[in-house]
Amino acid sequence: MSMKTTKVDKALREELGTKEFTSMLTLCEQCGVCSGICPLSKLTDFRVRKMILKAGLGDNSLIESPDLWLCTMCYACLERCRSGIQVPEIISVLRTLATEEGKLPDSSSKVARLFLKTGYAFPLSGLTAKMRKELGLGELKVDKKAVNDVEKLTKKTGLKKLVEGS
Ligand code: SF4
Ligand code: SF4
Repeated sequence: MSMKTTKVDKALREELGTKEFTSMLTLCEQCGVCSGICPLSKLTDFRVRKMILKAGLGDNSLIESPDLWLCTMCYACLERCRSGIQVPEIISVLRTLATEEGKLPDSSSKVARLFLKTGYAFPLSGLTAKMRKELGLGELKVDKKAVNDVEKLTKKTGLKKLVEGS
């Protein structure tokens, strides 16, 4: 197999290394089972197998990829991987690196801001209310205490600073 590695980034490799992923990445057999089970494979050009290969090489182009933000964290790849590669965790590290470099996509930034403001990662719109009513679910309200808790948590984890820059 031939692969063009555009940029091998030491920092990325070190970041994955600090998370104890380095040895795990070397266990990847490139079998492609993860790509086969990943729902994104049916809809996009994103292939988990290729991403793991690039992560192992420390290829920094990964954090530029919009595909990085498509993963739904369904964990299907991890359940099927016989080498136990923690793909969703690796994607989380890559997303953090991308965010730290100011590459958080607008769509994800909007969701994060909404979460900071209301404690919900989706808008409390009329459509949400209508669908909940149809399903027999109660009305959702912004809970001030929950928002305060979210603020404390997101300050501690650094999410607030990453998203709002303050
Ligand atoms: S991450 Fe696991 S399932 Fe995917 S290619 Fe590597 S060894 Fe195979
Ligand atoms: S966790 Fe992400 S990469 Fe893994 S199968 Fe689900 S969508 Fe695909």
